[in-house]
Amino acid sequence: MRKQFAIIGMGRFGSSMCKELHRMNHEVLAIDKDETKLNAVKAYATHTVTADATDEQVLIDAGIRNFDHAIVAIGEDIQASILCTLHLKDFDINQVWVKAQNDYHHKVLDKIGADRVFHPESDMGQRIAEYLTSEKVIDYIDLSDEYSIIETLATPKVKGKSLADLDIRARFGCTIIAIKQKNKVDVTPHPEDTLNPGDLLVVIGHKNDLRRFQKEAL
Ligand code: ADP
Repeated sequence: MRKQFAIIGMGRFGSSMCKELHRMNHEVLAIDKDETKLNAVKAYATHTVTADATDEQVLIDAGIRNFDHAIVAIGEDIQASILCTLHLKDFDINQVWVKAQNDYHHKVLDKIGADRVFHPESDMGQRIAEYLTSEKVIDYIDLSDEYSIIETLATPKVKGKSLADLDIRARFGCTIIAIKQKNKVDVTPHPEDTLNPGDLLVVIGHKNDLRRFQKEAL
């Protein structure tokens, strides 16, 4: 279903979010006080409005009250981010998601009713650290906050076992979508396929399930 999003702040985070939502065929209202930032996303946004988002009237004129979902991606100007969030919550926008700059900013945003607060840089840093410290994971792709695809090494624990023996989907809720053995990549793995240490498994699933799979199955 096509949804409408308002994004305030077209820095690196806001603009990449705008592009991604456009790619997913959603409508985006992009607001920034800097026109050059808006020009860079013109091809991806349904509407662009050059405005200072701390000005309540400007937000009303932009039609933001018709939106169900707004994302405040104002980075460094914490005061502007807080004020804009306050306005959006006053307008009764159902979901107001805000990028926080630090823990203090996060606390204030929680207090004033932001529905979701995130720290893209530190969240990403934590996630990468987590994968880097896992000896088995070779690579990963983040599909969303909850789902990802990992490339992980089969260990001696699974030597000679078939996919059916491991029963991964039932036990862990994740799915092996490809197996790389030496130079051969099998993108349609069968239940009877057996694994050897060193095989590369490409697995899709919920992050918690993938974590459990790595810990318990491999
Ligand atoms: P990032 O780390 O995502 O690149 P930035 O802080 O660099 O974040 O970018 C934030 C964006 O928000 C900038 O494009 C800036 O022009 C915009 N911005 C900052 N304050 C306001 C405001 N009061 N109203 C509208 N846009 C704003």
